[in-house]
Amino acid sequence: MSLRVLILGGTTEASALARHIAGDARLAPILSLAGRTSNPTAQPIAMRSGGFGGIAGLVGFLRDNAIEAVVDATHPYADQMSRHAVTACHETGTPLASLLRPEWQPFAGDRWQAVPDFAAAAQALGATPRRVFLSLGRQELPVFAAAPQHRYIARLIERPDGTRLPPDLKLVQARGPFDIEAERQLLTGEKIEVVVSKNAGGTATYAKIEAARALALPVVMIARPHKPTGHLMTGVEDVVRWLHGRIPRGV
Ligand code: NAP
Repeated sequence: MSLRVLILGGTTEASALARHIAGDARLAPILSLAGRTSNPTAQPIAMRSGGFGGIAGLVGFLRDNAIEAVVDATHPYADQMSRHAVTACHETGTPLASLLRPEWQPFAGDRWQAVPDFAAAAQALGATPRRVFLSLGRQELPVFAAAPQHRYIARLIERPDGTRLPPDLKLVQARGPFDIEAERQLLTGEKIEVVVSKNAGGTATYAKIEAARALALPVVMIARPHKPTGHLMTGVEDVVRWLHGRIPRGV
């Protein structure tokens, strides 16, 4: 019998973990995605998609599928899923590992303005109209409708549907990773004056921060939400070791 593992994904790390353990007969993993993008990247392990239906739904999933270990590899800003995972694992006695990338730290030359949340980011842009690059998710754009004086350029994997958006918004559809030269070109080509970013950490979306530094552009940096965790880990290898340590003897 192999160890039945639920991986909560939607991140580069979750995909890396899936590649790492694919074909390991001692593990029976299933990767769960929220189902937000209609064309997710193909994965080498079993997948499921869509919300579980809150904590009760996740508890039911863990029991119905006899899950023996959960890895929360969701994005640092996906705090609700992590809260549900901690509670559901506690309720079912399922061991939980949380894979969380370290935050980016400001370097010499960075002009970051730290703000606590998305609404504060919209406010921090000020009263004078500016050209703003929004490197955020679809569900985070409506908050900038409260600061309609700015010209926004937003890069998204998929176009937003039906949500209230800032009036002066240009959408650029693209999926990372991006390199610094492309980011520089985007920022200069669009005459961007300020960048709004989450402190995602990791390398996949860091090039925009480097490009902003090179161009001496200010970055409004939105603080991470509180994300509850199980056994906290920062690397895929640590999670693999943790999973291997849970495999019953004789497998
Ligand atoms: P969230 O606010 O923490 O979660 C909202 C709800 O979406 C959860 O309660 C859950 O629904 C469902 N959900 C989230 N992740 C799921 C998963 N891996 N599998 C199944 N259901 C999931 O999350 P979010 O910020 O909307 O992010 C959604 C997904 O996009 C996550 O998988 C995350 O890793 C990924 N992502 C997020 C960001 C970001 O900036 N937030 C960036 C890149 C990728 P139920 O309550 O019905 O179970």
